Amino acid sequence: MNIFNMTATELGKKIKNRKLGCLEVIKYFFDNVKNKSNGYICFTEEYAYNKAKEIQNKIDKGENLSILAGVPISIKDNICTKGINTTCASKMLQDFIPTYNATVFERLEKAGVILVGKLNMDEFAMGDTGRTSFFGGCKNPWDNTKSTGGSSSGSASALAYNEAILTLGSDTGGSIRQPSAFCSVTGIKPTYRLVSRYGLIGFAPEFDQIGPMTKDALDCCNTLEIISGYDKNDTTTIKNPKFKLLDNNFNIKNLKIGVCKNFIEYSDNEIKSEIFNAINIFKNLGAIIEEINLDIIEYSMPTYQILSNALAVSNMARYDGIKYGYKPKEDCLEKLCIKSRTEGFGVEVKKRIMFGNFVLKNKDTENSYYKNALNTKNYISKQFKDAFLKYDILLAPTTPKTPVSFDDTSETDIFLAGANLTGIPSISIPCGFTKNNMPIGLQLMGNFLKDNIILNTAIQFQKNTNFHLKRPNII
Ligand code: GLN
Repeated sequence: MNIFNMTATELGKKIKNRKLGCLEVIKYFFDNVKNKSNGYICFTEEYAYNKAKEIQNKIDKGENLSILAGVPISIKDNICTKGINTTCASKMLQDFIPTYNATVFERLEKAGVILVGKLNMDEFAMGDTGRTSFFGGCKNPWDNTKSTGGSSSGSASALAYNEAILTLGSDTGGSIRQPSAFCSVTGIKPTYRLVSRYGLIGFAPEFDQIGPMTKDALDCCNTLEIISGYDKNDTTTIKNPKFKLLDNNFNIKNLKIGVCKNFIEYSDNEIKSEIFNAINIFKNLGAIIEEINLDIIEYSMPTYQILSNALAVSNMARYDGIKYGYKPKEDCLEKLCIKSRTEGFGVEVKKRIMFGNFVLKNKDTENSYYKNALNTKNYISKQFKDAFLKYDILLAPTTPKTPVSFDDTSETDIFLAGANLTGIPSISIPCGFTKNNMPIGLQLMGNFLKDNIILNTAIQFQKNTNFHLKRPNII
């Protein structure tokens, strides 16, 4: 048995049919995972063994648990887990032990999914390389000299390293999808407000969304089925009755796909050719393909940066060395606050706080950066709204480049923030490799609350391709 050759759904079925026992699975996990990826900040071995016994008992009694019961899950370390350190990969929260669970974790626990560890990330989810983590960067098994992407670097890296079966990440401006593309895994940023943010440590709550990062789109679908839906602890969650995400009769025939022409033109040649190949696959499956120009590439990143960092300022204000977080020895209250932030935050977080304060400092609200960014956000939303009057799906590369070297500062999440600014769902799936074996990701965006459309399209794509099955030679 190698549990890492199975998807979460396949493993869940084996556990349900009693071909594998929960304890056996957990033992296999801890016997084999040595954190080669540096994807983990901590492991929850004792918790996992206790849970495995509990879940196995329930299965033996014939209790009706979810399809993923008994499957090990690894969770990004900005999602609160009661009694278990939740650090946000920051010195500031190094010793923080939440007294409550995030709703997503509560739901997964109830579904019988077993937490095995907390995952590395960029500090407070600020970054796109994973290297702003207080605990060091993660490794990309496709090439150790290249970035894993971020901020959900641990989720992508651990999956690609065969050190995770199922993970959760979070996405404020691309943090699920960009590392998914860089490590060749599947990750979805759901519709904003479809998944509760209760217990997710905020960076820019207007954009933050938790989502699954997995081995394939079916796993994403089954996980999202568990974690999505209205939550009384997060009153922004959508009250609609939960819809069934998986549609076994879903057919790509006549699906209208708008291909984002200028996103493709902006991308490296090897990416272009794999994206064209993917478009042909959809064509052969009967989709109607047309080209569209969304003139948002140059606007969405600056807009996102202004708004997200302005929001970050108020979110970071709670870390003052008094209520919780890193507390240096200091008697004077003011000095305590200064010292706790100076020593507790890394450079990237400090930069964001300064930048956020700068964009908010203009008293002339009509001409402020913030107001202009809000106007641009509306402009971007309108572009998407118009596009979805014509198309079911918008297709683009996930990133314009394949995993970059660490000293390369190009913006690789430039195609992604649009979905966060407008709240629409977007998934990244593997769609090919360069001649140097570097992964390429395909992005499918759907209209608001059409997560089912992009998921089922991704599932069909993966039924007809093998890109998501290819594994790196792990060094
Ligand atoms: N890379 C983007 C940033 O650093 C997005 C981060 C995220 O989605 N959490 O802001």
